[in-house]
Amino acid sequence: MSNKSDIYDVIVIGAGIEGSSTAYQLAKSGKNTLLLEQFPLPHSRGSSHGQSRITRKAYGPQEFYTNMMEESYRIQDELQAECGEQLFVNCGCLVFGPKGHPFVADTEKCLKRHGAPHEKFGVDEQRKRYPKLSLPSDYELVLDKTGGMLRADKMLQAFQRQFQRYGGTLRDGEPMLDLYPGDIVSIKTTKGVHRAKSVVLALGAWAAKFLPRIGVNVPLEPLKITVCYWEEKNGNHYSIENFPVFMSESGEGNNTIYGLPSEEYPGLVKICLHHGPKIDPDNRDAVDNEWVLDTIKMIIRTHFPTLEKEPSVVETCIYTNTPDTDFVLDVHPSWKNVVIAAGFSGHGFKLAPVVGKVLAQLATGQRPSYDMSHFKIDRFFKNKL
Ligand SMILES: Cc1cc2nc3c(=O)[nH]c(=O)nc-3n(C[C@H](O)[C@H](O)[C@H](O)COP(=O)(O)OP(=O)(O)OC[C@H]3O[C@@H](n4cnc5c(N)ncnc54)[C@H](O)[C@@H]3O)c2cc1C
Repeated sequence: MSNKSDIYDVIVIGAGIEGSSTAYQLAKSGKNTLLLEQFPLPHSRGSSHGQSRITRKAYGPQEFYTNMMEESYRIQDELQAECGEQLFVNCGCLVFGPKGHPFVADTEKCLKRHGAPHEKFGVDEQRKRYPKLSLPSDYELVLDKTGGMLRADKMLQAFQRQFQRYGGTLRDGEPMLDLYPGDIVSIKTTKGVHRAKSVVLALGAWAAKFLPRIGVNVPLEPLKITVCYWEEKNGNHYSIENFPVFMSESGEGNNTIYGLPSEEYPGLVKICLHHGPKIDPDNRDAVDNEWVLDTIKMIIRTHFPTLEKEPSVVETCIYTNTPDTDFVLDVHPSWKNVVIAAGFSGHGFKLAPVVGKVLAQLATGQRPSYDMSHFKIDRFFKNKL
């Protein structure tokens, strides 16, 4: 399909939030960029769909993410100004758990170190502020006032729209079938061949299937995440005007939950378990996830007694986890013009604006603005060598 005159500077494969943000940065800096997506857009089969995501500055002991969040907020603000739509609602992010639990303690330490506005309080104060939340008296809470809700669908579409406004080409419904490396990389799709000086692979859960084919055996685990929306029995205590986004670790097993106040479906609060069964992204509903629903229902009964016992709406999304839950942002071990972005491990949305900038730097041979050692592919293999 392509001839020598239409060699792109960069082809980005995958129009999820990471690929779309990368393509936006590239087009904005004047690079001739193609963004390729296997499914017709918009779609709900990957990890970036839905109307809401949590954002926050606190990242516990993983200081490097907090450092990146400063710029993520800045790029997000720029995008918001460019598209003229509200993408962020600053309702705060509440973290709670048993006293002394590292998740809560590290959140507070991180916010203190970064001089970020926050409050720490006990259950007595919680009962005054959020009377419908039911926590044991030995719990403590930290409110990160920088946090809140991202309007996820709107943000994804804003990146894609602005990318096109800056001159980028978006082709959806066109899966990449193969990649042929070289000084010029060729991408074979169902519709032809596209060529570029460099390529960014932002394949979401499909990275687990494709990367081994190009010799990259990063241990990626796609998980099915059950997204539940719960109706409040009476009143409006969990509306975004009255309640922040929240995260909690109970300290037992895989019982980390997160939630967002009612906004996307009027009267329904989004509360999900931060875990789920392993899946093949092309066959994601062929697994038993009853245990996930049972676990969340138990947490709802215990901590959110004024919500209905059964979810009103249940949707699905995919996490792609690495063993250490840190991202992979690196170049291919042999082909420096093939950039790999994978393993966003259920926390990649808030960082996507800055991740896009870093990936664009890697794809154009620039030095990344951040220390990339946490994101290297070889970290998984060091001990084995
Ligand atoms: C339920 C849920 C809640 C979450 N909550 C939060 C949160 O509150 N805060 C937060 O920061 N993060 C959150 N995350 C994580 C965040 O949403 C993900 O980390 C992020 O969306 C990952 O984006 P991605 O671009 O890597 O993947 P995707 O969105 O899946 O994009 C990858 C794209 O690549 C395409 N593709 C794959 N293979 C090919 C091919 N061969 N050819 C062409 N296209 C291809 C796919 O179709 C897909 O569109 C959540 C995730 C889920 C599932």
